[in-house]
Parts: sequence; C-alpha cells; structure tokens
Amino acid sequence: MAFDAYGELKPSGVPAWYRRPSDSFTRTCPFSPAAKNEDYLATNLYPLAKHQDAAIGRFQTAYVGYVAEEEYRLQGSSGGMVTWVATELLRQGLIDGVAHVIATKEPQKEGRYFRYRISRTVAQVQEGAKSRYYPIELSEILQTIREVPGRYAVVGVPCFIKAVQLLRNEDPLFRERIRFTLGLFCGHMKSARFVESFAWQMKVPVHQIEQVEFRHKDPNRPANWYNAQLTLRDGSTINRDWWHLKDGDWGAGFYMNSACNFCDDVVAETADISFGDAWVEPYSSDGKGTNVVVVRSTVVEELVENAIQEGRLQLETVDQKFVEQTQAAGFRQRREGLAYRLTWPRKGVQPCKRVKPDAETVAKHRKTIYRMRSFISAGSHRVFSFARLLQKPELYFKWARMVAAVYHGLAYHQGKFSEMRKRFGELKG
Ligand SMILES: Cc1cc2nc3c(=O)[nH]c(=O)nc-3n(C[C@H](O)[C@H](O)[C@H](O)COP(=O)(O)OP(=O)(O)OC[C@H]3O[C@@H](n4cnc5c(N)ncnc54)[C@H](O)[C@@H]3O)c2cc1C
Repeated sequence: MAFDAYGELKPSGVPAWYRRPSDSFTRTCPFSPAAKNEDYLATNLYPLAKHQDAAIGRFQTAYVGYVAEEEYRLQGSSGGMVTWVATELLRQGLIDGVAHVIATKEPQKEGRYFRYRISRTVAQVQEGAKSRYYPIELSEILQTIREVPGRYAVVGVPCFIKAVQLLRNEDPLFRERIRFTLGLFCGHMKSARFVESFAWQMKVPVHQIEQVEFRHKDPNRPANWYNAQLTLRDGSTINRDWWHLKDGDWGAGFYMNSACNFCDDVVAETADISFGDAWVEPYSSDGKGTNVVVVRSTVVEELVENAIQEGRLQLETVDQKFVEQTQAAGFRQRREGLAYRLTWPRKGVQPCKRVKPDAETVAKHRKTIYRMRSFISAGSHRVFSFARLLQKPELYFKWARMVAAVYHGLAYHQGKFSEMRKRFGELKG
C-alpha cells in the first residue's frame, strides 16, 4: 500500500498484477458489488440480536455516556469508550492484542503521521486514544495476525470492519484469531492532504510537524467546536479552530475518499460494539465528550453491564431513534444522498448497495447540496494537488474559501447569497 498523488493509500503493484482478476479479492473488498453486504454479515454474526433497525442494524443494547474511571474520557476524542473497551478485553484476559491506530514516532522519516499497530498492554492501548482523520491501512497488522498466534481485537471505521468480517468468512485463521471487532461511526475518511492544508493555513512548514491532533480537547468549550493542534519539531504547538479553516466544515466533504460516496453503513453495523459522538444537546455542548455506543455481541454486553453496575462506566440506555438522531447528517448523506448519487452515470464497476437508486423523492434543495459536496470532495483533491505542485497555497485558499462559502449558504441558509458573502468574508486570512 502506498500514498498516491492525492495523499490517499492505494495498493501498489505492477500493471499485470492490477489486471489479474481475483475471486477472493472480489469477495473480500468491502466495496465490491459481489461481496456480502452488511445485513448478511450481521445476520450471521448476531442471529439472536434483540433489535433490528434500518439505520443502526442489529443490536443488543444502545447507550449514551462516558467512562467514569481514570482518565479515559479526558484522553479520548469523545467519552473514551473505545480505549476503555479495548483495555478491558485485555484486562479480562479475553484477547492478547488490539489492532488500532497510533501516531508514528518519526513521521517525517516514515512519511505518514499515523498507522495501525498491535498493542499488547493497557498502557500501549491508552497511547492510541483519539480519532485520526487520516489514511491508514490494515496490511501490516493482518500479516502479523497471520504469523503470530493469539486472540486479537480490531478497531476500525465501518468499511474496515466489514473488510475484516469478509476476511473472517474467507479464512478460518482470521476467524479464529480475530475475536472482537470495535467499530467507529464514520462520516467519511480524509486524505493526508488535510494535514498539509492545516500547515499551510497555520503558516508552518509541513516538514516541521511532529504530531497532529485533529480534535484537541478543551473541557471548557463545546465538544463540537473542533480544534486542530500541530506540534512542531522544536516542541512548540499551534492551534486553530476548524471553524476558521477554509476546509474545516466536515459536512462540505473536503478531501473525502471517493469510496465514501458509495458507503451505506454509518455505525459499523458488523462490529461487536460500535462508538460515536453524541451529537445532540445537551451532550454536544459538553466539552468533556460523550459517546453513543451500540452493542451487538453478548460477551461485550456483559462486560459493559458489569462495569455500569460497578460505577466504572456512566452509561444510560437509549433507543435506536436516539442513536440515529446523533448521526442525522451522516444518515442523510449515506441513505438519501447515496440513493441520489446512485442515479448519476458512472463508468466501470457499478456499486451494489442496500439503498436503491432514487432521484424522485429527494428534494431539489437537497440535491443541490449533494452535488455541491461531491464537487468539493473531488475538487479539493485536484486543486490542492495543483497548488502543491506549484507551491502556491493561495490558489487552493481562493478556491476553498469560495466553495466553502457557497456550501455554507446552501446547507445552512437556504442558499441565501448574503450568507455566502458573509462566510466568504469570515474565511479570509
Ligand atoms: C475517519 C473517522 C470518521 C468518524 N466520523 C464520525 C461521525 O461521523 N460521527 C461520529 O459520531 N463519530 C465519528 N467518528 C468516531 C469518533 O471520532 C470517535 O472515534 C468515537 O466517538 C470514539 O471516541 P472515544 O473517545 O470512545 O475513542 P478513544 O478512546 O479516543 O479511542 C479511539 C480509538 O480509535 C482508534 N482510531 C483512531 N483513528 C482511527 C482510524 N482512522 N481507524 C481506526 N482506528 C482509529 C484509536 O487508535 C483508538 O484506539 C469518526 C472516526 C474516524 C476515525
């Protein structure tokens, strides 16, 4: 796997290898039209699930809350639940290692800021806390799991967990060794250029960046006021709110991987337990961070229930509607938006999704937003790449500022020109 010109990870090989058809790849790629879908996988994994829902899939119990013990909540992106569950599985002796994403020690040498690692101690797992909106890939850790016997848990966004489940179906070794899957809710994945754009906008040289924190936590500010922090070689740090970044509106879709346009799983429906942010009030205003959690495996459910009884977790049960509301924008994009995108003409492989193509029931205004988001996603890769080639950040800034302002007016102010102009002004500098 190697970075391409847009800062996205792609398989790398000779042309003959690319052209060679592969049945097993066709069955295990999560976006392959011939692969089993999330419904099929979840039915086989959790046949006795208590609940079944069109938005969040099959599940036992759903919760809202956070980790009450130690520093998990403060160290985590939201309520710290992912790191807590991963460490609890280790503590209870249910696994020997956790595959998750950590910051690289020498990013300039390694050519990337984050990668997957298998952590084998509680301290190592804790080191990996926080969300990384950055390309990562599983090949190295799958190789280790193949070579080193043991029981593993894998943390990943929905398409990665689906890939793992497809692989477990295909290969008994992975079925036996990967004992637990921990899913992250997902809006979309960004390219590596997002970090470079941070650097340009914060006016620091990219090669000086040692650490990237996409969501620097400040318990005194609302959780949904994202703040990016870069740590430089000399140890200094620089921060900027996403609101003040030209490409900082998550909904606008800057640097989105094109595969995300064809995903219909928001909440990692094939994971034993999945986690997101509680993006509804009063939780989104609580800067300490709050998770929504969907549990599908009965073993994990017992672990969580015991910890609630012991006061180690502060979780309340919620229903599927609550979980869906916390991800309202994600569901619009991946259900209604996907149905509309599937009607657009496309060359090559035709996606086969659980959502059917539909251009009839989508309102005109929503169609404009989906078109604009798609334009921004595709355009951001190209315009950034051009500006990077010429080493002229202003080229990208001008374009990004304009499209962000138009998106803002369309998405939040019914297309009012005065609001677009106002936002354009705010994004200066
Ligand atoms: C690309 C991406 C998009 C997301 N989109 C949404 C969204 O739309 N809505 C929503 O509610 N939540 C989304 N999340 C999840 C959210 O950001 C939090 O990760 C989640 O709420 C868990 O927080 P926590 O405090 O429990 O996790 P923490 O305790 O902070 O632990 C996070 C764990 O996830 C691992 N990790 C971090 N980044 C990645 C990655 N890229 N791939 C695999 N593992 C990783 C870390 O190694 C760590 O083990 C997204 C996450 C990612 C990575």
